[in-house]
Amino acid sequence: MSRKLENIRSILNEHHEMFKNAIPLIASENITSPAVQEACNSDFSHRYAEGWVGQRVYAGCKYIDQIEQICMDLTKEYFNCCFADVRPVSGVMANLVLYNAFTSRNHGKMCCLAIPKGGHISHAPYQASSGRLIYGTAGTVRGLDVKYLAFDEENMNIDPDRSIKIIREYEPEMILFGASVFLFPHPVKELSDVAKEFGASIGYDAAHVAGLIGSGYFQDPLREGADAVSLSCHKTLPGPQTGAVIADREDLVEDLQNAAFPALFSNHHLHNVAGLAVALTEMLEFGKEYHKKVIENAKAFAQALNERGLKVLCEHLGFTESHQVVVDITEFEKTVGLGGDIERILEEANIIINRNLLPWDIRGASGPGKEKGTAKPRHYMNPGGLRLGTSEVTRLGMGKSEMVDIAEFFKKLIIDKQDPKKIKEGVAAFKKDFQEVKYCFQTPNKAYEYLKLY
Ligand SMILES: *Cc1c(COP(=O)(O)O)cnc(C)c1O
Repeated sequence: MSRKLENIRSILNEHHEMFKNAIPLIASENITSPAVQEACNSDFSHRYAEGWVGQRVYAGCKYIDQIEQICMDLTKEYFNCCFADVRPVSGVMANLVLYNAFTSRNHGKMCCLAIPKGGHISHAPYQASSGRLIYGTAGTVRGLDVKYLAFDEENMNIDPDRSIKIIREYEPEMILFGASVFLFPHPVKELSDVAKEFGASIGYDAAHVAGLIGSGYFQDPLREGADAVSLSCHKTLPGPQTGAVIADREDLVEDLQNAAFPALFSNHHLHNVAGLAVALTEMLEFGKEYHKKVIENAKAFAQALNERGLKVLCEHLGFTESHQVVVDITEFEKTVGLGGDIERILEEANIIINRNLLPWDIRGASGPGKEKGTAKPRHYMNPGGLRLGTSEVTRLGMGKSEMVDIAEFFKKLIIDKQDPKKIKEGVAAFKKDFQEVKYCFQTPNKAYEYLKLY
């Protein structure tokens, strides 16, 4: 074997070793079961099948069609709706499908959240430190003009009253709910009722919370006024890295299908469709129990961090209703540093998290509702916050007492300033008992038997 191939293999081995010993707390990540991995590793990854099931552009799709149909049916069952398109290869692509279906090209008008308030790069433009506006997919691909919904920093949510004023004045073609920092359900019903008075469409980006919603928690956007929902299938929904669009209106089916293909992509990732089908069977069977635990763990983790002297946002609201916990670490600026610095210290101890902007960071304010100029403006490279998620640690079998153990590691590193190299040993010992994926069929055969019942 050539040197280069040996290198690739040994790097992969090191990566696996790192995660075997790590505490994974990235809120957008999760882990797939052996059955999902087997399906993703199938011959489907070599094939083409452009178009809708039964109307393919290529031969050889007989079995692919069967699996994609099963995958769509399982998606509809999990989300309780009449339409599912499992072809978009990511959450960003699923958002583009909604923009295509619901807005006009070039200067179509959309309302959504700004990035520092939790909006995603695929929603809105953001201001680079140079002052230049950087456009995400909404701007660059679709040419949308975006106006931001008003945000209530104290409650970390869309401010309904001020947002209603904005949408009445701006009359957008589309409102997009959903966010990357997403602690509490958005006021979908209140704003949709108003937006529908002037014929706006309602989209909901459930990239982060897809699994919570499918399992019956958090909120139910399709029943609260959303016309269509975009998903990532690999965040709280523990499938392979892919996306989907769902809706519960028969009259939108054709528009949504065409907005995806041929408008946006040619082939999709067939192996991931197979993997997603398996992941959905797991969630239909184990999702209720799993996602209940994910949310309980997030609350317990927030409480434990807060008790140890880390300032977790929204204590007055019970910290969170999702898988996420957001921490304001600005008081440690002088002792250990800001978000980027703390992210690195935690990583040295093999605790994997991401730094995150707090809504008031870019404004240069010291807290929710505080005046501009009460703090230095903070950049996303070294922001004032940390975003933590409990999806993956829960899937590995951790419960409330482990959340307390992890909070204790945070205290030792950030408050007691202990040596990360030392803590890393403790982290590896702690992780030893959590190596197996739970809330799934323990062998691929068990998953397939279950799938046969459909
Ligand atoms: C992660 C995320 C996306 C993008 O999903 P990908 O599957 O990574 O393309 C879209 N919207 C929101 C709100 C997200 O957090």
